[in-house]
Amino acid sequence: TASIKPLVAGNWKMNGLKTDLGIAAEIARGHDGALRTKVDLAICPPATLLYPMTAALIGSRIATGGQDCSLRDSGAFTGEVSAAMLADAGAQYAIVGHSERRTLHGERDATVKAKAQAAQAALLVPIVCVGETKDEREAGKALAVVKKQLRGSVPEGSTGATLVVAYEPVWAIGTGLTPTTADVAEMHAAIRADLGRILGKAAAASVRLLYGGSVKPSNAAELMGVSDVDGALVGGASLKAEDFLGIARACG
Ligand code: PEP
Repeated sequence: TASIKPLVAGNWKMNGLKTDLGIAAEIARGHDGALRTKVDLAICPPATLLYPMTAALIGSRIATGGQDCSLRDSGAFTGEVSAAMLADAGAQYAIVGHSERRTLHGERDATVKAKAQAAQAALLVPIVCVGETKDEREAGKALAVVKKQLRGSVPEGSTGATLVVAYEPVWAIGTGLTPTTADVAEMHAAIRADLGRILGKAAAASVRLLYGGSVKPSNAAELMGVSDVDGALVGGASLKAEDFLGIARACG
């Protein structure tokens, strides 16, 4: 959408040690004056790297984010990391409802919504992920599945300042496969319309809608040029500074 500054967010997943902080520094060097005016960047490293990465990025405009957060505030929840802890470590965003969380950890829409609300309560911007499986797309159910996920996962009252939505077809994640630009356009327009019904038209118009799933420098310009695509959520290619920057440049 023309009036929205795009966001390219990197999801490092369970990759990255202190020795990889140089990748973030290299991305910061490449996010120079011209690029900064055109695109916002965020990196979501494993929680262990949030604090040192945020420190390494001081002076840059690059934000950091968590890859998940607890729906609880604090207490006896061994292994959980709260949204306030992510914020305390320097995060500005938290991915919630990533398909790997939905599939491997059984997270359902109500849980994703509670996590998004917990993130917002800690003044983090949740990046709420939705997307259909291969079977669902082949059965012609992609739009209905995503609509149901949105209804169940998006907190009421969200605006473009407090919410990002990422459309990530599950079958496109880490596979090298991508939907056609026509399919992306159809889905993103449907998401914008559904958000309009959930949040009101004005708020929905300001929410950044990211596309995610096998985005790389060679296909980024085409995908980022689709209407209602306001940036990308990038997995594999976010681990290489040149690839991540290549995708960022394609948004400009
Ligand atoms: C993701 O998991 O959010 C993702 C988009 O992964 P990839 O870019 O590797 O397909």
